[in-house]
Amino acid sequence: MVVEFADSAKLAVEVNRRRNFAIISHPDAGKTTLTEKLLLYGGAIHEAGSVRARRDQRQATSDWMELEKQRGISITSTVLQFEYRDCQINLLDTPGHQDFSEDTYRTLAAADNAVMLIDAAKGLEPQTRKLFEVCRLRKLPIFTFANKLDRPSQEPLNLLDEIEKELKLATYPVNWPIGTGDRFKGVFDRRTRKVHLFQRSRHGSKMASETTLDLDAPELLELVEPDVYQTFRDELELIEEVGSELDLEAVLSGELTPVFFGSAMTNFGVQLFLDAFLDYAAKPGPRTARTGSVDPTHEHFSGFVFKLQANMDPKHRDRVAFVRVCSGKFEKDMVVTHARSGKSLRLARPQKLFAQDRESVEEAYAGDVIGLNNPGAFSIGDTIYIGPKIEYEGIPCFSPELFAYLRNPNPSKFKQFQKGISELREEGAVQIMYSTDEAKRDPILAAVGQLQFEVVQFRLQSEYGVESRVELLPYSVARWVTAGWDELAKVGRLFNAMTVKDMWDRPVLLFKNEWNCQQVEGDHPSLQLQSIAPLT
Ligand code: GDP
Repeated sequence: MVVEFADSAKLAVEVNRRRNFAIISHPDAGKTTLTEKLLLYGGAIHEAGSVRARRDQRQATSDWMELEKQRGISITSTVLQFEYRDCQINLLDTPGHQDFSEDTYRTLAAADNAVMLIDAAKGLEPQTRKLFEVCRLRKLPIFTFANKLDRPSQEPLNLLDEIEKELKLATYPVNWPIGTGDRFKGVFDRRTRKVHLFQRSRHGSKMASETTLDLDAPELLELVEPDVYQTFRDELELIEEVGSELDLEAVLSGELTPVFFGSAMTNFGVQLFLDAFLDYAAKPGPRTARTGSVDPTHEHFSGFVFKLQANMDPKHRDRVAFVRVCSGKFEKDMVVTHARSGKSLRLARPQKLFAQDRESVEEAYAGDVIGLNNPGAFSIGDTIYIGPKIEYEGIPCFSPELFAYLRNPNPSKFKQFQKGISELREEGAVQIMYSTDEAKRDPILAAVGQLQFEVVQFRLQSEYGVESRVELLPYSVARWVTAGWDELAKVGRLFNAMTVKDMWDRPVLLFKNEWNCQQVEGDHPSLQLQSIAPLT
């Protein structure tokens, strides 16, 4: 029997103990390493190395799509769930640079918090900035982890300055490093006012027991070179002048980032980070729906699809819909309403994903992610619910940066080609646009990552039996025209720009670069351009 009502006190307990986050970073900053160390503390793995081993083993063991095997990459974001200090933590894994696609952005739509991982030597890097912008749009609380302090790093004060100036994000260092690189000695935790000593010899594959000292312990002066100690005290004085209280409200509204220093590889500073994160992070909160705000402890289950994964098992041509639970209690075999079609669906075979191992899930609450196996039923952004109607706001189409004509060299396969394109678009694999020039009817693929082109071509071939050719277009910026289109039409052809329509027939301008875009905006004051597609 399916129980539709959940006891509200029980719901509140479950919601309060949930924390959900995604890591945003540039490749090589140490995301795999940090993930591994976090899982170690969560007891989800017993020895670090297994996440990487899984990644490396995938070639041999995975039954995922051929393309993943060929490239040895992960196209999909998976969800890692672990318990720590009585909390249920959901880490939404975002794919890295070489496999960067719209899925990376969409995952942030399902996250309540973001951890911005930066390499302390390199500071902010392009992928991090892009992902940060998406977090900012959603006003996500952001926690910064400056990694690799055991290696020569930038001055910690410079790192804070870079975040403040370039991202316009206030910072609050929760701990402060004593030295960096060869002279890295540890961090001072401002929460407990204790110094945690770094042990260089430590391997870091097991949980660490850290040695702590009081700030004015005489041993500290013996352990730390005088100049390093003096710099540390001067810097500490400087940051404490600004104020010692962390403004939690500013953290939760995404205006201020708590900053942590550490070294994921040597497992240093990871537990300090995790402990503070659990205390400060946003719990699953109310979510805006077209039908009004929905509380996570709302008595009925609801959630939305933020990602579709096709062909995880080619033998079954299955398609998994990843659903972020937003309210109530999810139970296996539940019958829900699909908001877009109004149809009833039985949610059979729900899955929880731990890396590549699929494991069945019995119940889930707000903040959790479940994988549903209902081929063909879902599109990105769809809501499912029980009880009075709920429909969450859709997930926006993100500004593509890569554009290409997709040619069909074999006219006899026209129908399959069209069908394939249309289904892949519905699934959210890529955005499709068309030239406003009637003579050019080939679809234009619009993507945020090169991988999306490869996936489309690969799947057209393997699932629809059609070959295709990608012809890159020299544009990198898309703007939806929300006003002034008529005036633009009078001007005729724009230099260094292309006019296209999206799938909903909405006008979009493609520019070679930002500069060309600003020029056109300057020349046509009545023109209103938007970098993210309005929701349909
Ligand atoms: P990802 O691409 O962000 O997942 O990065 P990885 O976790 O694969 O790390 C990239 C490289 O940096 C690897 O060689 C790691 O061993 C190394 N690395 C990660 N964290 C640290 C750290 O704290 N200190 C040092 N010295 N190296 C690190």
